[in-house]
Amino acid sequence: MDYSFFLRRSNPELDAILEVKGGLFYPPEGDEPAPLLLYTHQRLAGLRSWAENTLYDKRPCPIEFGLICANELNAFAYTSKNEDPNKLDFIGINIGPIGTLYNIFHRILSVPDSFSEIGNPDLETKDRGALPYLTTNTRQSGFEFQFPNCPIRQQFASELAQIAIEFLFLHELGHLRNGHVDFVRQEMSFDYLPEAFDGRGMRNANLIWQTLEFDADAASLVLCAAQAHTRSRIVSSNIKDYESNSALKAIYENFETTMQMVSYSIYIAFRLFDLSEWSWMNQPNLSHPSPLFRLGSIAPTFFQLFSVKPIYETSPQLYMTNFEQTLYRAEIDCGLIQGTEPDPRGIYDFANSPQRYDYLHQLEACWKEIRPLLNNYVRGGNLAP
Ligand SMILES: [Zn+2]
Repeated sequence: MDYSFFLRRSNPELDAILEVKGGLFYPPEGDEPAPLLLYTHQRLAGLRSWAENTLYDKRPCPIEFGLICANELNAFAYTSKNEDPNKLDFIGINIGPIGTLYNIFHRILSVPDSFSEIGNPDLETKDRGALPYLTTNTRQSGFEFQFPNCPIRQQFASELAQIAIEFLFLHELGHLRNGHVDFVRQEMSFDYLPEAFDGRGMRNANLIWQTLEFDADAASLVLCAAQAHTRSRIVSSNIKDYESNSALKAIYENFETTMQMVSYSIYIAFRLFDLSEWSWMNQPNLSHPSPLFRLGSIAPTFFQLFSVKPIYETSPQLYMTNFEQTLYRAEIDCGLIQGTEPDPRGIYDFANSPQRYDYLHQLEACWKEIRPLLNNYVRGGNLAP
């Protein structure tokens, strides 16, 4: 497997985009977060190979990926022009959010009351997780790295961070695999598909963009479940080898627990940029569905997946019952690191807002319109109906 930080192939257009974005990350000597980035790069390289070899079954094409030297929460997906004889796809993830996710999960596990069943929480001290506010950019906020004292808790936190990072990567892959990137090139005159941008200049295109984002989230959740299922089977079939590896065992020993941990990680990732209010009025100006809508879609998507795919051997109803506790746990943990009471206002606002169905129906209607066009570009699998 190729873990090199260098791209196997590129083109002048991609090189120019990479330069504007901040350039590709190459590990410097002696830089503190480098080991985390090295490990992340290795894990994402594994996902890249998996995607290239098994998920691009309709229109095969090489996938390149790289970490981008920029701190803000951002990522992008690129595909070369359709007439390019050396067609290639590219996924770029900023290094900032990778550090932020590690930092946040490590801080959560640095609080003894959080996940007290994992490792030895007595090694943690009460004030260590402290974070004055949730942020998508811990570096800009000046919040330094902080690691749990207990090595098992540290490994557990790292794996949760890794799950959230893989969600970001697979979201970009979803844009490529489902033909979104070709679509915005051909139909909307974009050179690539950016994540963070000001949607206010988009006029009537916002709903199309939000629909693509909703589809990329759904695609990523489905692929996250497939990855989690594979890991769960590997860990549970080698359980003796994992006696010393209790952090991974706690996450992957039982698939029902695995999916709760996957849901928890992705929920926390969205929670970092949730403004705690479901604002229907702002939605038309956004490039993405609001964070609350996105985190509110995690459980229904998994529920539906488990209902239609018996391979997962888990009851959708059991998943939903357990997810209530997972959500509650996530809100408690967000409070614990900030030294505040749990604040589930956002999710209650969302859950009690009948307008979320109106919005969902808008996305579904838009999907019906763009789906036939996307079908011309799909790399693999089947688009949602
Ligand atoms: Zn996206």
